[in-house]
Amino acid sequence: MLIRTFKFRLYPDHNQHSKLNRTLGACRYTYNKMVEKINREGFQSRNDLNYFLTDLKESEPWLYENHSKMLQMVSTQIYGAQRSLQELRKTGHKTGNLKFVQYSKYDTFVYNQSGYHIRDGSLHLSKIGNIKMVQHGGIPQNSTIKQISITRKANRWFANIVLNIDGLLPTISQKLVGIDLGITNFAYDSDGCSIPNPLNYANLLKPLKRVQRKVSRRRKGSQNRKKAILWYRRIHQKIQNKRRDFLHKLSTQYAKRYGMIFLERLQKLNMVSNHRLAQRILDSGWGTFERFLKYKTCVVLVAPNNTTVDCSRCGSAVPKVLGVRTHRCHVCSLVLDRDYNAAINILQKGMGILVMHESTAGTAGTYACRDLAEVIEAGRGYGRGPVEVHQAS
Ligand SMILES: [Zn+2]
Repeated sequence: MLIRTFKFRLYPDHNQHSKLNRTLGACRYTYNKMVEKINREGFQSRNDLNYFLTDLKESEPWLYENHSKMLQMVSTQIYGAQRSLQELRKTGHKTGNLKFVQYSKYDTFVYNQSGYHIRDGSLHLSKIGNIKMVQHGGIPQNSTIKQISITRKANRWFANIVLNIDGLLPTISQKLVGIDLGITNFAYDSDGCSIPNPLNYANLLKPLKRVQRKVSRRRKGSQNRKKAILWYRRIHQKIQNKRRDFLHKLSTQYAKRYGMIFLERLQKLNMVSNHRLAQRILDSGWGTFERFLKYKTCVVLVAPNNTTVDCSRCGSAVPKVLGVRTHRCHVCSLVLDRDYNAAINILQKGMGILVMHESTAGTAGTYACRDLAEVIEAGRGYGRGPVEVHQAS
């Protein structure tokens, strides 16, 4: 089974538009009320929040106009926010209190498990109505909807639809994997396997610098200087060999285990211009790894947009700064290693291309390397950004 998120634009009529806005308003009202309670009384358990929600509805009957699960999702969301703050405090970060959200910042509400269905090109939302929805390429058959989040962006409405897709994996004969390349972990794959960065360069940089100082201290043209230069080159060579060795072994392992590998297209220029990181990125050898993989197996490069930010379960955006190692989704309460979450997103992006291809072709089949060009063409058609394919010869 595969979980995928599809994003579609909604076209509500005037009446629905104001209902959607009112719903967001109700969620925001509930959210802010809960923030007020937490800031007044301290940490609230899930039960505390649920009791509070029941009381709140009693005193504010207009909240009953909204689907009940949706307000429960607000309490899940706020519980997650509390936990995140707790974790930050534990790791020594200075944190303030939870903040009230303004109208413009609160832009998503969630239907979880019930209160929706899709029929004849429109999305039915309980207590809101049938909203016209444009589905590019449609939703794969044999899928069930797990969750729908509705987002307002610049007064436009979008639905993020989370699907459980059945019976797809057996038709793909090759094992697939998404790999997120990083600094702390050189690689983290969508099967949950992490490979720490050996950081050879950093470890061996000290002797290299020492020898470099020797070279510069010795008289030009002298035998001793020549010796030192040779010495310097040897250390350098040793570092390079170690790195190549590591990258070769790792890429061979992946090529043996998987038939198709999804990687993010590297944006080297962007990253290397960040000076603090530059050395380590150059050192970590992502480009070389990609090159090695390409001549050992099928590599598909997917667009790198938001793979770290998006939640791999529900698709909500969970922005995180570089130091935050854990993905903690406030919407679906998924907690995962940051890189693991990214790897799953990379796999899903790649799989999405295959799924769309299959659902439009209408035939069940296996994907051999030679079919990839077709798959990629299909991927282009769905606006997922250009994808490059590299095939082992
Ligand atoms: Zn989530």
